[in-house]
Amino acid sequence: MTFAVKGWCPGALRPMESGDGLIVRVRPWNSALTPAQARAIADGARRHGNGLIDLTRRANLQLRGVSPATLAPLQEALDRAGLLDRDPEAEALRNVMVGPFAGTAARTLATRLTEAIVANTGLKGLPPKFAWLVDDGAFPTLLDQRSDVALCLLADGVAVRAGRSWLGIVDRSQAVETALGLAIGRRPALAPLTVPPDCRRPPPGMAVPFGRLTWDQLCGVADLAETAGSSEVRLAPWRSLYIDGPMADAAALGLIVDPDDPLLRIDACPGAPACRSSTVDTRRDARRLADKGFAGTVHLSGCAKGCARSTAADLVLVGMDGRYGVVRNGTPHDPVLYTMTPDEL
Ligand code: SF4
Repeated sequence: MTFAVKGWCPGALRPMESGDGLIVRVRPWNSALTPAQARAIADGARRHGNGLIDLTRRANLQLRGVSPATLAPLQEALDRAGLLDRDPEAEALRNVMVGPFAGTAARTLATRLTEAIVANTGLKGLPPKFAWLVDDGAFPTLLDQRSDVALCLLADGVAVRAGRSWLGIVDRSQAVETALGLAIGRRPALAPLTVPPDCRRPPPGMAVPFGRLTWDQLCGVADLAETAGSSEVRLAPWRSLYIDGPMADAAALGLIVDPDDPLLRIDACPGAPACRSSTVDTRRDARRLADKGFAGTVHLSGCAKGCARSTAADLVLVGMDGRYGVVRNGTPHDPVLYTMTPDEL
């Protein structure tokens, strides 16, 4: 049975093959999970995968190491937790990211938008990676993220963005319709937006090193949320988790709560042996680099695809034939200056 589908992001209904088995991606509604849902995912990873879960750059969770035999029971468990879509098309379209600090009104707007996207058959022809985001003008943190259509809730309406361009402001009641219209190429008539919302720098919350969680870490986060009386665990694309309540105890789970931790400045894709495209163990080497100390930002990429980071880093190390190609101030696609062995890092 072959699951790889070129040009598609993996989902829970449409998993993708990887070096360590099938990847099953769960897209939490409004980029948030109840503690019970977080526990269901952790349990699914433990029982039906290899226990490892990735927090992605679209604030989704990917269960790794699932086999064709364990896929169906995993999907049933996700369905019981309210985490499975009715079909793969709806799942793929529901690519809506919501700011982790969005308040109730912005979350309600995001829910309305997501429901409308899933219900709108006219959107089925959208490109697979068509991305939406919703944030709250009171503390917007997602606005530097890529999106095709973005909505930001303000006091006097909803600011609307297409690609990188802010187009104007619309009444709250018209925001969903406006966003859907933009997706199919309809230019809306909007009131002018004099001051576009500014993206804020978020606190680290509970940062997940390289976006890789173990099932028991996720259970621990669910415990913290319940102890704090937080109804949600919110997910952020900079690979952090947030709850309403104290988060310092997450350090005991192996998560990063210190904003000065050097690992926060390193991006590293799974690399070898998890990904077949890599000949280097990127995350092992990233931890060694963090222990030695370094300045600026670093991106270790198992190959030139650069899955872990789309923007430039001060130092980029790209895997090639068991060595690292070195790029300064760039991305893995840029020309390599020289190569070195992992031991020479
Ligand atoms: S960057 Fe290359 S090696 Fe790393 S996860 Fe992506 S495809 Fe695999």
